[in-house]
Amino acid sequence: MLELKDIKKYYHVGDTTTKALDGVSVSFRRQEFVAILGASGSGKTTMLNVIGGLDNYDSGDMIIDGKSTKTFKESDWDAYRNNSIGFVFQSYNLISHLGIIDNVELGMTLSGVAKEEKRQKAEEALTRVGLADHMHKKPNQLSGGQMQRVAIARALANDPDILLCDEPTGALDTETSVQIMNLIQELSQEKLVIMVTHNPNLANQYADRIIEFSDGRILNDSHPHKESEKSDQFILKRTKMRFVTALKLSFNNLKTKKGRTFLTAFASSIGIISIGIVLSLSSGFQAQIDRTQTETMAKFPITISQVATDATANSDRALGSEKGTFPKSQTVTAKISDQDRAQHTNKIDQNYIDYIENIDPKLSNNIGYTRLVGMNLLGNVGGEVKPVTFSAAASSEDSGAAMSSAVSSMTGVGVSTFPTQLDNKSGENFLQDNYRLLDGSYPKNATDVVLIVDANNNTNINSLKNLGFDVKDGEKIDFSQIVGTSFKLIHNNDYYTELPTGNFIPNNDYQAMYDNANDDTLTISGILRVKSDSTMNLLAPGIAYSDQLTSQIVEENQNSAIVEAQKNSDTSVMTNQALTSEQKDAVLAQLGGSSIPSSIMIYPNNFKNKEEILTYLDNYNDGKKKADKILYTDLAGTMTELTGGLMDAITYVLVAFAGISLVTSMIMIGIITYTSVIERTKEIGVLKALGARKKDITRVFDAETCILGVGSGILGVLIAWGATFPINILLYNLTDLKDVAQLNPVHAIILIVVSTVLTMLGGHIPAKMAAKKDAAIALRAE
Ligand code: ADP
Ligand code: MG
Repeated sequence: MLELKDIKKYYHVGDTTTKALDGVSVSFRRQEFVAILGASGSGKTTMLNVIGGLDNYDSGDMIIDGKSTKTFKESDWDAYRNNSIGFVFQSYNLISHLGIIDNVELGMTLSGVAKEEKRQKAEEALTRVGLADHMHKKPNQLSGGQMQRVAIARALANDPDILLCDEPTGALDTETSVQIMNLIQELSQEKLVIMVTHNPNLANQYADRIIEFSDGRILNDSHPHKESEKSDQFILKRTKMRFVTALKLSFNNLKTKKGRTFLTAFASSIGIISIGIVLSLSSGFQAQIDRTQTETMAKFPITISQVATDATANSDRALGSEKGTFPKSQTVTAKISDQDRAQHTNKIDQNYIDYIENIDPKLSNNIGYTRLVGMNLLGNVGGEVKPVTFSAAASSEDSGAAMSSAVSSMTGVGVSTFPTQLDNKSGENFLQDNYRLLDGSYPKNATDVVLIVDANNNTNINSLKNLGFDVKDGEKIDFSQIVGTSFKLIHNNDYYTELPTGNFIPNNDYQAMYDNANDDTLTISGILRVKSDSTMNLLAPGIAYSDQLTSQIVEENQNSAIVEAQKNSDTSVMTNQALTSEQKDAVLAQLGGSSIPSSIMIYPNNFKNKEEILTYLDNYNDGKKKADKILYTDLAGTMTELTGGLMDAITYVLVAFAGISLVTSMIMIGIITYTSVIERTKEIGVLKALGARKKDITRVFDAETCILGVGSGILGVLIAWGATFPINILLYNLTDLKDVAQLNPVHAIILIVVSTVLTMLGGHIPAKMAAKKDAAIALRAE
């Protein structure tokens, strides 16, 4: 069934050539026990390896079942070894990290035999060699003889046609040798057994046929055979190792060196740890920024004032800031500065107000309007009724005079209005969100006004003076003196008297006006202080009232006599001064004759909604002429864009640095895999002897790096996650920020995948090297 024709195999080392096989021609019967005898170095092992397809011959031909092997491809040899050959070595060559049954099953595992069948065949083989009671042990729990029995069982399990034994008793004592020889002899009743030995006694006692070998040639053949010409009857079943099998092999191998595996995984996880920490910090900071944006920045309103700056214009350059050319000309050029050029007048009209009113309350339920409406206010100052004002502007000493007071009350300088709640269901309240109540109560009605103080409880001295409080700079006033103070708001018709000339003058019987039942009573309901510095600019220190109050005043006064008269006159009805149309609009607004606000403040409910509101506002300008466009100011937006970009930049830099350690880990894994390849050389040989393909060997080591990669990824992520706790405690103590470091689960998964892919890449080259290893050399390795 097997015929060697003039097989030659030479080894060239340096200048010397060793003729390991020097023209061997011999044929074997389908069933016989052949012993090959010869001195050490005569080429016995080489011949066995050639017959077994572990080593390639240089010239000649080997014919198996009528098929020449000259044209055999690598995969044919793999399949041949797996299907037709069983190897038994002097040094057993069991894979020590696999159990006995797994060792025996390995060949069948490679050829994809089903689990039950595999187990059954393995148990049969082990029973056959007399190891039924030791099946569940590990190789290192057996004696030498028992290990050789396992090796024989492994060779038998896949039911090969040829059993090749290379000095199977060479490492055993006489008694055990006899047992093994009996077993082999028994097997030779059904198979072709070729056994190499240098012990002539054993050969003579057991073998049917003895071939004597010397210097790569056959000296003598005791029972030659002539193979008859046969047609090709050779059938092969291809081998293929599944990745799961490779994983199992590698996992078992790694289990035997737990300490080293853990250290390797730990060392290579350092890159993952650093990236994990950087990512969790940056996404934590980003989340913190986002939260601040939503909570605080969104509290900054989008402002639409009568005068805005066109952000699209180049407004940086003031006159004189340009680079000089120092011309010699005798002329002066008149020029508008870029700043002025960028100034844009918003024509806020009822149309636009309606557009604003249509903003979905889900996006913003706080819209504030500032109207330049004057207030006819009277206060009881120390028992005497006097005109007072909410203005924070400094007034001259004779502020008691009716006229000047009336005028200054019109200017409304430094008075803040806060938005009225449109939708109380949302639970959002501008004042309660941003201001802490120090005394009294939050305003309940339009006629409730509040005193705003800054974070140091300071307020504008003019506001207090203008209300009739007699205070000096730095003087402290009890809350109780302020809260509950009330004023009378006089209607235009009660406040102004029309003279026969058609002019209007304020009345001077303050007490009578004060007692008029028509009056509204305004009360300082409470003292409010900013909650944090971020809301500082929203309401200026001093008196603040709701925009509801201003619209109420407009409602009450827009049809008053003075307003009607002023509407029909191009001169001031009070001073007879000529008015331009803009000046007339301003005077009318101050008298409460116009409901068009001077500025609009839109407070978005949250940061995301703000974007939608801005889009809504932009839509208004679509297709409008430049002069008709309404521009808004979004202070919070400019700030957040800045911080967002900065955070990203910092993250990239840190991740890049951390990435370097990842590459280091990758190189390290490569080295570790390389060491593992060296260590497992024998195993590679055994796997090949059992029919493993190059791919399968690569797979075994890829599986090992895969396990290491996943392991180090998970370890790295766990450590990074664990590190976020002390980091958060530290950051909390340093900055008062809570739970900054947060490892995003998506990042964690990505990191594990990255770790796996990188380590597999790093280990793949050594894995390829392992696959290329010469099986014959691998098996000779010690
Ligand atoms: P035996 O098994 O009879 O002791 P071998 O078949 O192992 O002999 O070796 C036959 C000859 O080939 C020896 O001289 C050995 O040194 C040489 N040889 C075997 N393998 C190699 C190799 N990989 N490189 C060089 N020489 C080798
Ligand atoms: Mg040998």
